[in-house]
Amino acid sequence: MAKILALTNQKGGVGKTTSCVNLAASLAATKRRVLLVDLDPQGNATMGCGVDKHELPLSVYDVLVGHAPVRDAIVPSEAAGIEVLPSNGDLTAAEVELINSADSEGALSRALEDLRGDYDFILVDCPPSLNMLTVNALVAADGVIIPMQCEYYALEGLAALMDTISGISSTRNPKLHIEGLLRTMYDPRNSLTVEVSRQLIAHFGNKVYRTVIPRNVRLAEAPSHGLPVIKYDKHSRGAIAYLALAGELIRRQDAGKVRQQPEETAV
Ligand code: ADP
Ligand code: MG
Repeated sequence: MAKILALTNQKGGVGKTTSCVNLAASLAATKRRVLLVDLDPQGNATMGCGVDKHELPLSVYDVLVGHAPVRDAIVPSEAAGIEVLPSNGDLTAAEVELINSADSEGALSRALEDLRGDYDFILVDCPPSLNMLTVNALVAADGVIIPMQCEYYALEGLAALMDTISGISSTRNPKLHIEGLLRTMYDPRNSLTVEVSRQLIAHFGNKVYRTVIPRNVRLAEAPSHGLPVIKYDKHSRGAIAYLALAGELIRRQDAGKVRQQPEETAV
């Protein structure tokens, strides 16, 4: 059964899309079946997987507003070794159209529920705001991955995001939890980065992934070739970091499964 993870942070430019594409491709490299859902009208994750957002017969927009069944809109990404529920500018209209539907917050959840048997992971790339699309992602998700840059204002936005997450988990989606906080564009030579990182760990403990994503130009270059970094330059520090993150995510999940077993069968 697929685990649905939303990559969310209402700040733009913190590495959500980069992390979504490269984590998806890295999980696929470890033989996991992965679906990436692009929930940002900018369609950057779609393009980053080598899928042309201008040539989509159907997109996530058609699925959310009920024009098409979800399987009809999914396309393969050979570049990333995954499947993609793609997005483009059409999605900006979804918010307005969804307001008139009976359950505007549950549209994505309903669409993805049918797909759980088809994948090991479903990763949702969220837009840079706490809007209806992000709420749809949080209602659909099991866990949230929060990519963040360790800079002065990073912690400020986090409180609003935490409030939104706890609001949704106490009303619509009790299983929703913080899967992990991911430090992106990390520069250990910057003393502010190190200090913010220290505060994060003090506050969130082992929710902070041990893997850090370094600032690496290969990560910024890869999307213009429509490739994840492991295909663009597999020896780059960015590629190694996202493969390590995929490994950490899987190890944590496996450890969680052992803990959930009844005591007599736990090893
Ligand atoms: P978001 O989706 O949160 O808006 P992006 O993933 O699009 O953020 O990243 C913002 C910009 O920073 C992009 O140009 C991207 O290529 C670049 N970028 C992201 N992560 C890194 C990194 N670790 N090293 C270098 N550049 C990065
Ligand atoms: Mg993005």
